[in-house]
Amino acid sequence: MEHQSIKNIFTEKPLEKSVLIKGWLRTARHSKGLSFLEVNDGSCFSGLQVIADAKLENYEQEVTKLLTGSAVSVKGTVVESPGKGQSIEIQAAEIEVVGQAPADYPLQKKRHSFEFLRTIAHLRPRTNTIGAIFRVRNAASKAIHGFFQEKGFFYLHTPIITASDCEGAGEMFRVSCLDAKNPPLTKEGKVDYTKDFFGREAYLTVSGQLEAEIAAMALSNVYTFGPTFRAENSNTSRHLAEFWMVEPEMAFCDINGDMDLAEEFLKYVFKSCLKDCPDDFEFFNSRIDNTILETMAHIIEAPFERISYTDAVDILVKSGQKFEFPVTWGCDLQSEHERFLTELHFKKPVMVTDYPKTIKAFYMYLNDDDKTVRGLDVLVPKVGEIIGGAQREHRLDVLQKRFIECNLNEKDYWWYTDLRRYGSVPHAGFGLGFERIIQFMSGVGNIREAIPFPRVPGYADF
Ligand code: ATP
Ligand code: MN
Repeated sequence: MEHQSIKNIFTEKPLEKSVLIKGWLRTARHSKGLSFLEVNDGSCFSGLQVIADAKLENYEQEVTKLLTGSAVSVKGTVVESPGKGQSIEIQAAEIEVVGQAPADYPLQKKRHSFEFLRTIAHLRPRTNTIGAIFRVRNAASKAIHGFFQEKGFFYLHTPIITASDCEGAGEMFRVSCLDAKNPPLTKEGKVDYTKDFFGREAYLTVSGQLEAEIAAMALSNVYTFGPTFRAENSNTSRHLAEFWMVEPEMAFCDINGDMDLAEEFLKYVFKSCLKDCPDDFEFFNSRIDNTILETMAHIIEAPFERISYTDAVDILVKSGQKFEFPVTWGCDLQSEHERFLTELHFKKPVMVTDYPKTIKAFYMYLNDDDKTVRGLDVLVPKVGEIIGGAQREHRLDVLQKRFIECNLNEKDYWWYTDLRRYGSVPHAGFGLGFERIIQFMSGVGNIREAIPFPRVPGYADF
């Protein structure tokens, strides 16, 4: 007999039929010739209750000694459950102990802090919260590909190792094979990277955007979904050193098309995850943050607010709120400002555009005022910025001026500039931080719970 997933058994409810399941014990209670085992195989949120009694030949010898965390294989009959809390259970006919877990199994039935669970990242997937987050990550990945594939976007693989010291070299991880203790030196006494593996300095990518622009200039609509790396030393609840980013790029598209896509995209992903993982969301809502279901329903229904940076600053200045960082036109919006706008003022997602050029990257389309660029940030309650994007500068002369203004060497971007020489078209795109959306949907306070193995300053275990 082949074993089936517990999810399958809950969906099909094969009453009075014989089934085989395999999983790990969340709890084991033994009393007077009767044992209650809660078996979870991760296929869905709930475990299945198994009732075992002395009729089993290994009952006294093995079953009564089973402890939480053990792996078992159970053959038995599906019956309606008289107990409350579960609809069906299994009356065991045979129980095989596949892998024992002794009494020192760290995940005993009690609440553990997320901080503690991070120190046992090899076991925490067996907890309710992290298990649910893994499943929702999967559902969100599927939704992301589904959304773009349905719209005819092509999935593009951008490089992870990059030699273009494009955006903010300070925040990049260096990739080098040189002997750190005794590197080759130039005449000036600097490390000689021409002797390194790639014959030049190389880094882990911070974004696939520039390469996505290349592909969009040929395939029109593309998206990337891959890991990105930032060596920013920010020990916050929303930053990881390694995170996954989704980056669509569209040719023949301006900032309005960009906003339309961002809004449609977020709504689609939320809807799809809610449909695929209802039990996981019930759990998040009842145990982690009781506003999640309501907030997500609201986001799916309500149109997002669209305002300019200038109007956003106006609202913040006039709000009378006391912010840690005071707001003036020209400053970057801090998390507290973003949260005020989305949580208190508009009470829904807010898309802010047209930022001062001084605080945004060189590649954003310059407006006629020569002061602002067509950048786009999407802000959501609790997490703040979840998407950062822009209409790109596609005019060669303006881009060249921007290189000079931003103190960048045009030569380093020769191929990027080339795209503006040969059939340049207006285009736009954005980057969504995958873990930010998982953090948002699960309600966990720290992004370190939103990824299986977080990498942050001072920590890269597992
Ligand atoms: P922030 O201002 O929050 O640091 P950013 O402006 O540096 O973000 P972008 O360069 O615009 O971020 O990156 C696009 C998206 O990637 C962000 O909107 C965010 O969702 C996500 N993101 C950026 N940095 C990180 C990080 N260190 N960890 C996790 N997600 C991140
Ligand atoms: Mn940003």
